[in-house]
Amino acid sequence: MWKKAARPDPVRYTVMLSARDLQFSYPQGEFALSVGEFYVGTGETLGIMGPSGAGKTTLLRLLSGILLPLHGTVKLQDDDISKLPGSARREMRLKKLGLVFQDFALLDYLSVEDNLFLPMRLGGLPVDEVRERAQELVAKLDMAQHWGRLTGELSQGERQRVAVVRSLLHKPLAVFADEPTSSLDGSRKEAVMELLTADAKARGAALIVVTHDAEMKRWFDRVVDFSSLKS
Ligand code: ADP
Ligand code: MG
Repeated sequence: MWKKAARPDPVRYTVMLSARDLQFSYPQGEFALSVGEFYVGTGETLGIMGPSGAGKTTLLRLLSGILLPLHGTVKLQDDDISKLPGSARREMRLKKLGLVFQDFALLDYLSVEDNLFLPMRLGGLPVDEVRERAQELVAKLDMAQHWGRLTGELSQGERQRVAVVRSLLHKPLAVFADEPTSSLDGSRKEAVMELLTADAKARGAALIVVTHDAEMKRWFDRVVDFSSLKS
């Protein structure tokens, strides 16, 4: 990937997340993924575009340490995620990464509030310090009126917005968002992209958004075609 593109100016560009020589295949099935080089800078917003079934979600799972590559490295700053044992990868994910899953991964029988804070509680992070931030982010996505409702009672678009807020609450170093506007349109879609990109810029976090929606391109500093990542 980026074989033709010049490397960014190292003085102004600090790498937040990088991967090298990744190889992966699922134990069951035919699918295999091989990525030569991948990097995202601090405060950089990256869009990964590609058709359904190409392997975009698999790549996010590898970059966030949910899956381990058969070969290669994934680094968050200087920490090699792919060398950590499972428990340490989980802790790092809860503390340092933000994830918006394609299926949202909410607990339907918990309220919006409890869904928002659960990962922080599991990671031993101080929830009280982010209550105000949580309310601000929820208000930005026009979800304040749903704060105490069970997420199982919400529409798909509302559920997706809860997942987006949850990914940002603990001020993660890198945010991975898998089709984060798939259930949204119009101003709701704009608000989610505005929030994800502005938050990354304001905090110097890396934002990686997977999408197959060409309309989204304008939100990103850099857009890569998934097929160009394969080595
Ligand atoms: P995308 O997100 O680009 O739509 P995915 O990463 O979800 O693509 O899937 C890529 C390929 O891997 C597909 O062929 C899919 O069927 C396969 N795949 C996804 N998850 C698994 C799994 N747990 N076991 C085996 N194959 C899988
Ligand atoms: Mg996918």
